Amino acid sequence: MVLPYVKISGERFIIDLMYARSDNMVGQAVYQTIGWGNLAVVHQDVMSLLNRLEPELKRLKLKLKICDAYRPKIAHEMMKKLIPMKGFFAENAEMSQHCLGTALDVCLCDDEGKEFSYPTKVDAYDQEMSRQVLSGQSALFMEHLQKARHDYQALGIDEEIKNREFLCELMVGAGFEALEHEWWHYNLPLGKIDHYPLVSLKAEDFC
Ligand SMILES: [Zn+2]
Repeated sequence: MVLPYVKISGERFIIDLMYARSDNMVGQAVYQTIGWGNLAVVHQDVMSLLNRLEPELKRLKLKLKICDAYRPKIAHEMMKKLIPMKGFFAENAEMSQHCLGTALDVCLCDDEGKEFSYPTKVDAYDQEMSRQVLSGQSALFMEHLQKARHDYQALGIDEEIKNREFLCELMVGAGFEALEHEWWHYNLPLGKIDHYPLVSLKAEDFC
């Protein structure tokens, strides 16, 4: 049986999964630990929208960095164990659209692959705050998360806001749905468990 999941490919996409590296909120390269690596897989319905977006990226001489895509359930469970507090990871894998292959975490880059600036890093990552969160202190980070919202405004960050808004325009224009409290997260409008099953994909099927 051929499953409807594909590896993201295309000259305008940079694959750099944050959980395949250790500079992320959980402080560990979880995707390497479980043998998934830097593999960006999505449901083919997501790839169709990316294919719609690619000519526009080419025309604008931009690249889209894929910072997370399909997340294996086992990775979700590890991350949940590392940061068990509410508000970080979905209660269970069924509720995470990353685990269904219907969500992406992204940011725009220039033609050379250099990331534009945004009000926060993707995932609102900050090394010091990650240390605090991992030791059970999340108050400062929760405050910091306000900056991840699409409606966050502040003086002196016009460029960052413009970049956030432009990313949103492109992604929503291609058919994705934005998440109001995470500027980097986009998913399929009907990407939940009632339309897409929780699947257990294996890395070797995509290499
Ligand atoms: Zn996400």
